[in-house]
Amino acid sequence: MALIRSTNGNCPCPVCLVPKAQQAQGHNVHPVRKAADVQVIFTTKLKRGQKKKFLKQLSLRNVENVFWKLAHSDLHKALSFDRLHAYHLGLFGKHLWPELKLVVEGLDRSIRVAINNQSMVFPIWQGLYHFAKGVLYIEFSDGSKYEDLSKIIVFISFWALTAETSRRGYALLKLICRYIECDMYASFEVHTTETVDAYWQCIHQVYKALEKYIPLCVGDKKHKDWNFAKNHSHIHAPEDILAKGVMRNFSTQVIECSYLRVDYESKVTWKTVTDYLRCSPDFYKKPQYDGAIVDAGGGKCVIVKLHFTFVIDCGSKLYPLALVQAMQIPGSPQAQCNVDYNLALYRVKAKRAPVFIPLQSIIHGALLYSDPLRTDEYLVVDTIETGDIFLRLKEMFSDQGLA
Ligand SMILES: [Zn+2]
Repeated sequence: MALIRSTNGNCPCPVCLVPKAQQAQGHNVHPVRKAADVQVIFTTKLKRGQKKKFLKQLSLRNVENVFWKLAHSDLHKALSFDRLHAYHLGLFGKHLWPELKLVVEGLDRSIRVAINNQSMVFPIWQGLYHFAKGVLYIEFSDGSKYEDLSKIIVFISFWALTAETSRRGYALLKLICRYIECDMYASFEVHTTETVDAYWQCIHQVYKALEKYIPLCVGDKKHKDWNFAKNHSHIHAPEDILAKGVMRNFSTQVIECSYLRVDYESKVTWKTVTDYLRCSPDFYKKPQYDGAIVDAGGGKCVIVKLHFTFVIDCGSKLYPLALVQAMQIPGSPQAQCNVDYNLALYRVKAKRAPVFIPLQSIIHGALLYSDPLRTDEYLVVDTIETGDIFLRLKEMFSDQGLA
């Protein structure tokens, strides 16, 4: 559409003039392309060789663009970041995921099997694809599956890819974490100055994490070049949001028992959103006891795991209650705290005695992933849905607000 040369051109980006060899760097600012500048080259009388040279420098084809006929428009500004192709099918599906599989293939078979098994037993959650047949030995072609895979990948593999067992794997997980944070901000349905700024910072963190990861890949049979278009294109995403609104306005992505329904005000859109929580010994032939965030009063929130829900009929009034296991932040060893911090994991531990709470005190569902190496410890999955739990957990854990 922009009539630039292929991705092997000198400047492969249709929006800016980033040199091909600098697409994996985030610290340089490059001149943006302008349709008017290109038109000047075509309208100025130049020798044929000169014109060809100019066009080649800018990675442009020697063809006049039909979109120049649209008055008061600039094609390069109209081109927008596409989350589905750039993130889910691109940076993650085509690059980060194959890289992780490559690292995992180098591990002991028992570890590979264990990671694959963890993907199969990952808790079911509405809207999150359940990988019942595992993830390591299946090829995906669907962007939404890659998106959901990216949401669980750190949880199912962090315990195996430690700094001790695989320096490269650990560095890659940190890189994937930064990517996921970018995707979470990109998914927001409402943005503020602060969230756009946070998105910017996350994008730069991706490039920093990549700088640390690349030196660990020395010795690979095939050298991977991280200078590719989808590793650069998100640098323009925050500008797109500022200019055109949130990403759902210009995305190509198409926007689904027994439960208890919870309505809450989203931290992203400030609209009422509904969660469906399960508390059943036989949900699709498996027990399913969801987690939840509960208003503990005084501005404090607590994470709990549901055990049982019921209603007390007292005269003319009904009192819906739940028996829950409350969670607290565990006193983990420093090494575990470091891993949790680096991989942005929110760890909680079940208190011994269950307690009764009024059902109305539940303000949000919480997907709890059981740490396979630590009894009674869970990781709160912050990657589900479109950002609310992502922001809520950042807030809760920033001031250690758990009871
Ligand atoms: Zn660019």
